Amino acid sequence: MFDVWIIFQKKINTLNDMKKYLYLRPVYVLMIIILFCCTSKHKISDKPHILLITGGHSFDTIQFFEMFYDFEDMDVDTISQPQANALLETDELKKYDVLVFYDMWQDITDQQKTGLLGLLKEGKGMVFLHHSLVSYQGWDEFIYIIGGRYNLENDRMDTSKISGFEHDLDIKARIINKTHPITSNMPDFTIHDEGYYNIEIIPAVHPLLEVNHPSCAKCVAWTNKYENSRIVYILLGHDRHAYQNESFRLLVENAVKWSNLKIPDD
Ligand SMILES: [Zn+2]
Repeated sequence: MFDVWIIFQKKINTLNDMKKYLYLRPVYVLMIIILFCCTSKHKISDKPHILLITGGHSFDTIQFFEMFYDFEDMDVDTISQPQANALLETDELKKYDVLVFYDMWQDITDQQKTGLLGLLKEGKGMVFLHHSLVSYQGWDEFIYIIGGRYNLENDRMDTSKISGFEHDLDIKARIINKTHPITSNMPDFTIHDEGYYNIEIIPAVHPLLEVNHPSCAKCVAWTNKYENSRIVYILLGHDRHAYQNESFRLLVENAVKWSNLKIPDD
């Protein structure tokens, strides 16, 4: 009976001890909440928040957006022209880590140009895909941002400079920079896609990918630096055949992630 009494007393003491620390419960809860918020915040900031800009050219809409929604660790918003350029006149685009251009657009006001140049000064990552090489034929500075230009025919253009395209090519792409973070985990690959030929490319770009096809420019992916921004241009990507090509998807995903790194490496 005495033993039972001792055990009973011990249990009472333990309960009393626990009660003593109950006042600390809100502190524990607060600590857990803070820990949760810190880890979540860290995780979110690791995810590039990207804005896909389209408009001015048709494309396989569902498959294109699906490709980006399939990428892990990316938050994706979409917008089309002319709404995207209107946002260049506001601070709205500052919240994005990377702007991905899949538009083919010519209208841009001086204020919108200033807005885009401001983002480049801040070091905003920018990835330009396929027909975005045709954009802003009348803005001379644009070629130095994207790194090249597809020249449309116009009255002032020397005919030898006019660019061209050909659909449904089976293109063999070769990685020419195997140490660059965008292409280091990629093998050479084949893709069914559209080719552009006779395009202009500025000498300052760093080529990543090369093809050997008479209807396509030799260099089909490059990096460029403009002000404090990392720029990537990928010539490939006409339609769903490209979007569903595993190598193209990896190339685009790597390009977005690389352009989001804030410190440029030449
Ligand atoms: Zn195309």
